Amino acid sequence: MVCPQCGTQNDNRGETCSRCKRPLHPAAMKGKIPCYVHANREATTSCALCGNRLCTTCAVAVNGIDYCEGCAPATALRQSYDEDYEKLPVLDTTQVPIATFDSRFFAAIIDMGVLFVGIVVAVLLLWLLTGGSLDFLRSAQSQPVAYYLLRFVILLSVPVYLFLPVALHGQTPGHRVCGVICLQPDGHIVTIHQALIRALMQILSALPFFLGLAWMIWDKDKLTWHDHVSGTRLYEWQANT
Ligand SMILES: [Zn+2]
Ligand SMILES: [Zn+2]
Ligand SMILES: [Zn+2]
Repeated sequence: MVCPQCGTQNDNRGETCSRCKRPLHPAAMKGKIPCYVHANREATTSCALCGNRLCTTCAVAVNGIDYCEGCAPATALRQSYDEDYEKLPVLDTTQVPIATFDSRFFAAIIDMGVLFVGIVVAVLLLWLLTGGSLDFLRSAQSQPVAYYLLRFVILLSVPVYLFLPVALHGQTPGHRVCGVICLQPDGHIVTIHQALIRALMQILSALPFFLGLAWMIWDKDKLTWHDHVSGTRLYEWQANT
């Protein structure tokens, strides 16, 4: 079934979405049998061949018998539905304020702290593996493998850390602690593409002494460079899932 919040196709049995980890079935669906395609729609019938539960939009009626999309004869008339219409936003963006500079600033401090600790751990590991020498921090001469490995790990871990959690459920660990969430302006989970652009642009925003982040102080919509470029927004939100 399709997750109503992020639109990801899920295994039919799951209780939570494999991507955003939010409950697949909204509270309003409690005690009702969901359609096998739409987690947020009640099933009204089932497929005569495979038994899949179907909502009124998904049922394909042929001579008074209901089939699912896959089992219905190829010539049968199928109803069309708008996939976006089926999705529910994570939050109502007209009711929730855009994240304040303070929340974002502290979230950034926490995320940088986590990354810093990770890098220190990597340095310690390399230090142990190279027999107690920190030469690899300065030059590639004596320990080229450790030298390049450390730089590779840093180059890879920063964008992955910024990208992955936002693409999955909208929040880095820092966002989670500070009660903010990164979403599309209509309140849906961001697309993989948006999360990727955002993560890369965040690095560019940070390079000129965090000018891209500080931008939100003057910006009329309180947006940073990476918000603008990726078309995403950060909202104040105390997680309730
Ligand atoms: Zn989801
Ligand atoms: Zn079927
Ligand atoms: Zn359906």
